[in-house]
Amino acid sequence: MTDIPKSHPRYASLVARERVTNGVKKGYTSSQGLIAQGRGECFDYLLGERTMPSAEAATIAAAALLLLAERPALSVNGNVAALVAEEMVALANALQIPLEVNLFHRSEERVKKIADLLREKGAKEVLGENPDASVPGLEHARALATRGGIYDADVVLIPLEDGDRCEALTAMGKKVIAIDLNPLSRTARKATVSIVDNILRAVPNMAAQVRQLSARSRVDLERMVQEYDNEKVLRQAVQEIQDHLVEQFREDTN
Ligand code: ATP
Repeated sequence: MTDIPKSHPRYASLVARERVTNGVKKGYTSSQGLIAQGRGECFDYLLGERTMPSAEAATIAAAALLLLAERPALSVNGNVAALVAEEMVALANALQIPLEVNLFHRSEERVKKIADLLREKGAKEVLGENPDASVPGLEHARALATRGGIYDADVVLIPLEDGDRCEALTAMGKKVIAIDLNPLSRTARKATVSIVDNILRAVPNMAAQVRQLSARSRVDLERMVQEYDNEKVLRQAVQEIQDHLVEQFREDTN
């Protein structure tokens, strides 16, 4: 990996680029994943590259949903594996739930490489190599899912996902948690809870929130979920982008 000095003003973003590029070289990430990362980076820039209050509110609701779930599952694609494999494993192990590899551009080799990487990082249960079911409404490879994992989960975390799959999982009656820097994406608008934040910040924040809320009663957690309004949170995220841009413009012109 290129040695990036910590003092570089774009340090975090350069490290993320290195990780995704490395993911492509190692065969976890598809070349299209580079473009998805670029789109995410652009929204992160507009947000000011920090976790905003809208994302904090969504993270609390997401953690509550995961703790209340009977059969939650975490979905991992090539970009997620390249950026936060270790953090996703830590989250899955803290909740004692499975990780399932699911790829838009599926190849059996890539699925195996990602599953091996997750196991290397300490994952207890990795699914996705032997799918035995299909999510209705999606064409073949993307629809593949596993019983005991995403297929019969009641709550699914889908970071960096496309809108169709999010919609199809919601149509199955699942509660879907998205992590997506674009508050206007179809995924963000179709999910039950949308965390508009960089996955690099969002997954550790979620693991911390799960730890913090794990002692709370079901009644408290249910209240948190009931009080959450995803549409309002997405509007807030758009407003946060707007406010940041106005602030930035003022600073630049003064
Ligand atoms: P949709 O179908 O929901 O409109 P899309 O076609 O934009 O999504 P992709 O191109 O697959 O979907 O990209 C996935 C999404 O992931 C994009 O909305 C992008 O902003 C987001 N994204 C990319 N990198 C990151 C990241 N590091 N953290 C959070 N979100 C990211």
